[in-house]
This record gives sequence, C-alpha cells and structure tokens, in this order.
Amino acid sequence: MAAVLCMAAPAATQAQKKIKKELTRAQSPISMDAFITDLMSKMTLDEKIGQLNLPTGGEATTGSVVSGDLENKIKAGQVGGVFSLTTPERVRKTQELAVNHSRLKIPLIFGQDVIHGYKTLFPIPLGLAATWDLDLIEKTARVAATEASADGLNWAYSPMVDISRDPRWGRISEGSGEDTYLSSKIAGAMVKGLQGDDLGANNTLMACVKHFALYGAAEAGRDYNTTDMSLNRMYNEYLPPYKAAIDAGAGSIMTSFNDINGLPATANPWLLTDVLRKQWGFKGLVVTDYTAINELIDHGLGDLQQVSALSLNAGVDMDMVGEGFLTTLKKSLTEGKVSEVDIDRACRMVLEAKYKLGLFDDPYKYCSEERAKKEILSKEHLNFAREVAGQSFVLLKNENNTLPLKKVGTVALIGPLANTGSNMPGTWSVNADLANTQSLLEGMQEVVGSQVKILHSLGANLLEDAAYQERATMFGREIPRDNRTEEELIKEAVSTAQQADVIVAALGESSEMTGESSSRTDLNIPATQHHLLEALLKTGKPVVLVVFAGRPLTLTWEQANVPAILNVWFGGTETAKAITDVVFGDVNPSGKITATFPKNVGQIPIYYSHKNTGRPLAEGQWFQKFRSNYLDVDNAPLYPFGYGMSYTTFNYSDISLSKNSFKAGESITVSVTVSNTGKVVGKEVVQLYTRDLVGSITRPVKELKGFQKIALEPGESKKVDFIISADDLKFYNANLEYVAEPGDFNVFVGGNSRDVHAAKFTLER
Ligand code: BGC
Repeated sequence: MAAVLCMAAPAATQAQKKIKKELTRAQSPISMDAFITDLMSKMTLDEKIGQLNLPTGGEATTGSVVSGDLENKIKAGQVGGVFSLTTPERVRKTQELAVNHSRLKIPLIFGQDVIHGYKTLFPIPLGLAATWDLDLIEKTARVAATEASADGLNWAYSPMVDISRDPRWGRISEGSGEDTYLSSKIAGAMVKGLQGDDLGANNTLMACVKHFALYGAAEAGRDYNTTDMSLNRMYNEYLPPYKAAIDAGAGSIMTSFNDINGLPATANPWLLTDVLRKQWGFKGLVVTDYTAINELIDHGLGDLQQVSALSLNAGVDMDMVGEGFLTTLKKSLTEGKVSEVDIDRACRMVLEAKYKLGLFDDPYKYCSEERAKKEILSKEHLNFAREVAGQSFVLLKNENNTLPLKKVGTVALIGPLANTGSNMPGTWSVNADLANTQSLLEGMQEVVGSQVKILHSLGANLLEDAAYQERATMFGREIPRDNRTEEELIKEAVSTAQQADVIVAALGESSEMTGESSSRTDLNIPATQHHLLEALLKTGKPVVLVVFAGRPLTLTWEQANVPAILNVWFGGTETAKAITDVVFGDVNPSGKITATFPKNVGQIPIYYSHKNTGRPLAEGQWFQKFRSNYLDVDNAPLYPFGYGMSYTTFNYSDISLSKNSFKAGESITVSVTVSNTGKVVGKEVVQLYTRDLVGSITRPVKELKGFQKIALEPGESKKVDFIISADDLKFYNANLEYVAEPGDFNVFVGGNSRDVHAAKFTLER
C-alpha cells in the first residue's frame, strides 16, 4: 500500500510548482506580511471566512460533528484546516482538494491532539511531569512531532498547561499538576520539543497551548464547569504557564470551554485581546476548543450568529468544528455586528500559521510514507518510551524494602489492570495501537518470565457496577467483565496468590476514568478492588500494590495497610516492560508527584502553596479550636507535593547561603549537599522553595523556585547550587504590577515540599 501511495508524489510536485508560481512566493525575499497581504487582496469575503473554518476529518471526536461534505467545502474554499485526519495518503488526498481544486489553492493545515506521544506513547502528562526532567520531557515532544509530522500532521493541540488542584477533575491527567513554576517550565519544554528550532521543518509541529484559560479550576472538579477567580490568583498562580508557552514561541493557543468570572473564555475580549495580545504580545493563531463557539449558546450568550460575532470580536481566529463563523459571519458583517478588519485579522492569523509551517512552499511536506514507516514506533522511540515510563513512576511506600522483587520464585499478578494492554497508553492517545500494546502480564512474562513463574487471575472487575464500568472503558479501552460474583473472583485470586511467594496487585483506575468528561467524586480505589486487596493482604504474603491512575487517588487505607505502593499512572506504549523494570529493580524509581495526594476528597482543593490564613494550625498539629482545620481529619495531605521514594536513601546536609542579604540586580546562591546513603545508584529531585514573609498582599507559605534532578552512586555526595535573583521573587501585587518586594524570605531545600531544611535571607531595599 505504501509503495502505491508514494506514486502520488509526482502529482504533488506538479501542484507545488503551480502554487509557487501562482502565489509568487517561492524562495523570493518577500516578507510574510507582504506575501499574505498580496494573497488576501485576491480573496473574496467568503474565502476569507472559509479560512477560519476548521472542520473535523472524523478520526477523534469529542463532541457533536457539525460539519459534513468536507470535500466540496474544501473545493469551494470554505475550509482553512482539517482537524483529526492522519496518514500521508489521506492527508495528501485532502490537501490535493485544496491545492488543485480550490480557486486560490491555499493549502490546508492539519491538526490533532498529539498529547503524550503520537503512536509511540509516553506517560500521560501528569506522569511525565513526575519525572521532573525537562530534557526528557522535551525529547518526548520531539519524538511525538517526528512521528506525527511524518503522518501528515503539522499542528498539535498541545501542551495542555492548565493548573489543577482538584483531582476530581478528570483532565488533571492531561496537565503537569498543581504548581505554577514547574508547569511553566514544562510548558516551555513541550513547545520547544514540538516546534524545534524551525517551525518550517518537515519534522516539527506547531504547538497549540491550551486551554486558555483556567480550565483546570472548574468548580467541584466537574468538567466544563464555571471558574470564578480573583485577578490576583489568576496572574500569580494560573496564567503563568500559558505565558511561558507563548514566551517559548508557541504558534497557537486554544480557548477553553469554561466561564471565567461571568464571560466564557471563547467570548472573552479581556482574556483574548487585552491579556493575550496586548499584555503578552502574542502574535500567533487563536483557535477555539471543539465547538466552543456553539456552546456559548448554552452558556446563555445568544444564538449562533450572536455568539460567533462575540467570539470573533473577542479575538478568536479559527472556529473548531462548529461552523458558526462559516455560516453567520457574512450576515453579521452586513448587519454591522462584526467588522471586516476583524475578519481580515483572523484570516491573516490562519494564513501566517500556514506560511510559518512552510505549507505555501510545499503543501505535502508533512506527508511522508517513507518517514512514517521508518520513524513511527521505531525501536529507538520504543526504547526511549520504556525509559521515560520508568522515570515517571512514583514509589509511595516501601516498608521493609518489599520492593524491588528478586527475579526468582513465583509472583501472583492479580487485578483488573494486570492483563489489559489497551489501557496502558492512557487517556488522550487517539493514535495508540491498542491491540498491540502489551498488558502488564505480557510485559512481565517477556522480561522476567524465564526466571520468575508468573501466575495470574483477575480477582475483581474494574467496578462492581457494569454500567459505570462501561462509561469507564470507552474508546476501545476495554477491560472484559467477568460475570462471576465478587466472592467467587476473590476466592480464585486468593487461591492463586497462595501458590506464590509475593503478590503484585494491579489495581486502580482504567485509563478512561480520567481525561475529558471523566470527573469523579470518589477517589478511592473502587470498592470491589478494595475488597480484593483486603483478601490478598489476609493471605499474609507480601503485597506490592501497583496503582494505575490518571489522578491522585485517596490511598489512605492503602498507605496504612499495604507494605509497598508504586503509582504508575498510565505509562504509554512500553508501560508493561517499564513496570517490570522497576518492580524487579533494574530501574530505581525516581518520580515525584506534582499534585498533592489528599487523605480524603473533603480536603480538596489541597495544595502545598496555600496561604497561611489568620488562624493557621501549627505544623504537625491536628485539631485546635478556632484554628483553620477540620474536626475529622488533619490538614496534612497523604503525600505532599514533590514526594516520591527511591530504592536508595538521600541525606540533605550543609544548607548554606552565599550571603544573608542581597539587592535587586544581585543574586544569592543557596547550596546544599545531597548524599546517597543507600546501596544502589539513584536519582533525586532536589527542590528549592521560598516564602516571602511579609508582603503588600498575602503570600503563599511555600513556592517552588527551582529544582535539579541529580544521579548519585551509593556513598556519593554532590553539592547542589541554586541561584536566586530578585526577579525570582517577583509576584503580581494588588495593582497587578510584577514586583519583588524587599524584606525577609525563608528558603527551604529538600526532596519534597514537606521534608525540608530551612534558612533565611533578606532582599534589601
Ligand atoms: C478538548 C481539547 C481537544 C479538542 C480537539 C476538545 O474536546 O477539550 O483538549 O484539543 O477536543 O480534540
């Protein structure tokens, strides 16, 4: 098939020549502006509006499909790009409709959700963040772009940088967690990885930072829900990651679905024009989320014509799937509800994106059967995916060094997540090859099966309620149900376990229990699985709990009762082998959580960088009347932000400062010595936090300001230096001025946000 497809190339070359000639750009020095001005001078109003239309190619849909008759629309110049259409063959054919059959032959842009890999899948973003390794994360995006760009795509709806402090929200899995600083760094790394140094290269994708803005602060963690937030919190805590992505050069941004202080993002001129364009100087393309314009009708802002006009006027350039722009803007122009200036602005943004991607030079540059064959799922990519997955797992508990297991004897691998390959890639992996992804059982058998006898039984269904299980296993991510009773399943599992030396319980969520429209109010391991776990523990055999989850679960009971807990998120294509590597000690876990794990759902939102209140509870205390606390649970989380164990131990000593005070324009160095005090080589994420002790507005009790991931041999020590300048201490004050206020600061260094060593410095006037 591929060979036949390659034959299409000569036609493409012809088309290329034609375009180059007709659009007179070729390699000429005409600037982008002049080129687009010239092109737009030839465009009719309908053709300009057509460029703003982004219908779906139908491969991955997350809502209703509004548009039909794609082929004729493309020929008629009513389409600017296609969302969700892949493979060189299909993209080429679709592109040909535009460049051979539309009047002006303007090429289409092709976008899709390339979130944590393309066909080679890496851990879900929350897992990737847990690596705290920016180079590694950048490289995952590079690999994703290499694969996707070979397969016809040139635009990725990534990175998702929404801060979330609410693990009920299913989409917490798609972001980097709760922290502003870390998420901003990851946002930059992702953009660099996707876009490379040259957006016009045939192996890079244009990034699309999303969801602008504040989508992760949905009330009650219910997806698409309202956000109401002070400007101060927005500027200091929630907006910086979007800005970081833009500062890193992201070519486009996606508006979010949610209401923000009374005006949904997609129709919000303050957000899309004042903040984005004027304050941040964003010069790229603004696209809506999937049918986000149409949804403004249900938000209560008017009919389709009205909401389309509101969105254009607010600053939206391209309408994803909904066709509100296509079907109403002309009428709105006649009625004076929108201006031609705004239509031109939006059209220019779409054309500029195409220009920057080099599509006017070669509209088929992203279609390469040869590259696709060579690069997609290459051995090198798969090996890298295995390495990254191993780095993302977080060891939450390891009593008496239960882990790693020795490669001898018999292991009972039990649980509904033990033998499902399709759940391993994780949510938002639309191009995953589900049928060929190994289950944990298969991976374990392959990697250690010749040394270790592996027994397996299901032990429990994912969920007791079949209807809930169906909702939780959509998009082919099935976990077959066993219709026996809970007791029967447990009985069988216990008898399997009794034949083994150790039990590995693969429990938790299916991959679709997080992601879009997958919010939960109960974050415990589902009850039927919990019953299984209780029974397994009663056997008296050592139990290793491998937790699959796309969010922080409430593991309070497990922490109290299970000797070893390894949180593995969803690790992508090579999950199974990577878990085996860690469980049997070939890889030492080094992941650290980037979203606080609560003790129970009632503690949510819970995050380390909270404010102090006027009645704080002293650290380590529980209840005190008239203090800020609960009657029924203490304030501390189950696992604090930044937490994660290793098979070795690390000691922090000699925290020192280069000086006790410094002025703006100077800096201070905070040093600490970290030693590997255990028996194996390990990696540690050394974290630095500050606290601004007195501010013109209240300041968080801790803020991450730096981190370094270091590797240490047993017995080895390293001095780690962090440089802090006044710029690092800046925040938005009550007038939203970005300032560093002189005064005293605490500085904390440690291996997580709780267990830290403290010192003090002063920023002088
Ligand atoms: C999601 C976006 C995604 C888009 C296109 C929407 O439902 O919110 O994150 O990029 O669909 O797939």
